[in-house]
Parts: sequence; C-alpha cells; structure tokens
Amino acid sequence: MNILVLNCGSSSAKFAVLDARTGAEHLTGNAQRLGTPEATLDWRHAGQSVSRPIPGADHDVALRAAVALLREAGLEQTLGGVGHRVVHGATRFAQSMRITPEVIAQVEACVPLGPLHNPPNLLGIRIAQELLPGLVQVAVFDTAFHQTMPPRAYTYPVPLEWLEQHEVRRYGFHGTSHRYVAQKAQAMLGLAPDAGALLTAHLGNGCSATAVLNGRSVDTTMGLTPLEGLVMGTRSGSVDPALVGHVARATGATPESILDTLNKRSGLLGLSGHSNDMRTLEAAAAAGHARAQLAIEVFCYVLAKQLAGLTVALGRLDALVFTGGIGENSVLVREKVVGLLGFLGLVLDPEANARAIRGHDGRITLPGDAHAPQALVVPTHEELMIAMDTAALVA
Ligand code: AMP
Repeated sequence: MNILVLNCGSSSAKFAVLDARTGAEHLTGNAQRLGTPEATLDWRHAGQSVSRPIPGADHDVALRAAVALLREAGLEQTLGGVGHRVVHGATRFAQSMRITPEVIAQVEACVPLGPLHNPPNLLGIRIAQELLPGLVQVAVFDTAFHQTMPPRAYTYPVPLEWLEQHEVRRYGFHGTSHRYVAQKAQAMLGLAPDAGALLTAHLGNGCSATAVLNGRSVDTTMGLTPLEGLVMGTRSGSVDPALVGHVARATGATPESILDTLNKRSGLLGLSGHSNDMRTLEAAAAAGHARAQLAIEVFCYVLAKQLAGLTVALGRLDALVFTGGIGENSVLVREKVVGLLGFLGLVLDPEANARAIRGHDGRITLPGDAHAPQALVVPTHEELMIAMDTAALVA
C-alpha cells in the first residue's frame, strides 16, 4: 500500500510517497524557506531531481503544488492513506492514531508543550484533509514511543506540583527513529520484538539516545523539550540551569535570548565557532583547528557518558545502535565512543567500522563471547515507520 508521508515544520514541508511494505520511494520532496521570497519546491521522481522556485509560497500553496505533483505522477489513485509526523503528543498519545476531531483537539492541547512544532504539524493535517478528503489520515508522534518510561525516568526532581499542574516532565523525542532502529537491531541480532537490552543513539543535527528494554523505551536523554541531553549541532544539551541567571546578570541578556543561544548557537557550533556540521568539523579538526577538535571531544565524551548512564535503566547490554547522519557515517565518532565504552565489553572492529557508511548497516564490533555486547550501525527511516503505522491503521 502506498502512503503519503507529510512532515510540516515552521518553514518547510517534506513529503514522500512510499510503499509501506517494501519501503520503495516513488516520490520525495521538500518545500523549503516557506513564507520567504526564496521559497523552493524540490522533488525527486523517476530518477530525476527537480527544483522549482515558489516565491512567497506558504504551506497551503506548497502542499497544493505537492499534491499536483502526485497527480501528474499518477500516484494519487495508489494512495491508501496519509501519515503525518506530529512532534508533541505529551501523555495524551502512546501510539499512532487515526486522525479524528477529538485527536486534533488533543494535538492542539499539546501546543503549549510544542509551540514551535505542533502548529505547523496541525496546519499540514488541515490542508491534507482538505486536499485529499477521501483518505484516512494518521498522526505519528515523536513522543509516543517514550510513553513507556517509568516514573523514576520521566520525573524531574523539582516540586511535584510542576508536573501535576504544568505537565513538567521528561517526554523524549525522535521516538519514531528509536523505535525503527531498535526493531531492525532486534532482527539483526536474532532477537524477538519483545526481547533485548539496547541503547539507540540517534545522532543527526538533533541528537538523542534511548534505553530500549524488551522493545520498550525505558529512558531517554531528551526531556521536556528537545534541548536536554546530548551535545547537538546547535543545541547545548544538558547544562546547569543556573547558567541562565549567571549569563543574564553578566551580560544583560534576557532569559529568552539565552535560551535561544542554547538552542541555536551552542553545541558543535558554539564550541567550534566554525560549523554545526560534523563532516566540516572532522575536516577542520584533521587540519589542526583546535576548537573543532575540542567540539568533537566534548560531543563524544558527553555521548559516551550519557550512554553509560542509560545502561542503568537496562541492567545489561546486548547492543549499542548508531543511527542518524553522524551515527550512520562518522567513523571517527563511532570509534571514539565505542573506545570510551570499552569497559562495557565493546571491542571495535576498525575495518567493519570503516565499511559502515552511506546506508550500509552492520556490526562494527568484534564478536567476543556469546554474552559480549555489540555495536551496530542501522540507517534510520522515519518516513517508512510513519508509512507502516499509517498502513496498519488504514487496514
Ligand atoms: P541528519 O540530521 O540525520 O541529516 O544528520 C546531519 C549530520 O550528519 C551533520 O552533522 C552531518 O555533518 C553529519 N554527517 C553526514 N555525513 C557525514 C560523514 N560522512 N561524516 C561525518 N558526519 C556526517
């Protein structure tokens, strides 16, 4: 069954038509810089890549153009449903849902927790319902997979009234990716879907790690928002919250602007002063750029430290799984992190590590004894997971 997958951000709309069973992609596209004179619609179909300027286009114009492309490609009749990525489902959604007026109302109720993401997600749902009224629409939540975390993992040590009255707790994100690679890793290890003690590290521009025990998320590094946890491209990850007051007093900056800096000008970018992109930093570090070297060191150390912390939630370890642009391609980051975690019994296989790039999956550690944990590279495919959930709910 073919599914249209939509991922609407504040200034972009990504779309893909793919077969939910085989993962074959029939058409993929991205409308970017929406609402600006530089807006473009880029798509790939039948081996051809095309980019068309759509100056000033908003989400509505861009999605109409995307649906026109599907029609021209003869794909509209093949669609069985539409799957939407929705970032924040708070505690209201523990799984993907067929979209009804009640579901929309609940997604709206989550807007205060996901003020940047849920409004464009809702806009995408409304436009798709109008343009493709005959199709079942499904919401797939970034937070849903982590709803199995126990209270000790999701509760912050702050006045409990903040949780009760303002929903202040750890939610976790990237759930679709963690769930997808955990399932793939279980299959690669010959484990049943309800077996295994895994650490999944999604390392892209945003980064998070999850402890997956017997197929369920039991702890994760991101929190109330996607700012907590690991060092990311531009996000700091976890820092002492008291630095906000200190920097405000020292510089006169407002707490809002400091939070903006923690989100947009920290992490690899803030440390290196050079780039948020790991590939660029690896090249700079190799050429002797001291701040790029420091950025990579801090990135890998914090990652290893938080992965080690997450093993407490598992009690043992079968495999560490790398995914995302960095996890799937950075031989250097994987080498450093597996090296730092050697005390858990991981022993890098340098040749296998060097081979696992550009979509190649596989084991990157030496087999060891029967109980030794493994490190695996598993390319993520969030669109496919959304398509699979949508197809299951259509059926
Ligand atoms: P994503 O958000 O999943 O697309 O991941 C983006 C990140 O992956 C950026 O930091 C890229 O620099 C990084 N990345 C992609 N390819 C490589 C590579 N060959 N080596 C190191 N990092 C890479």
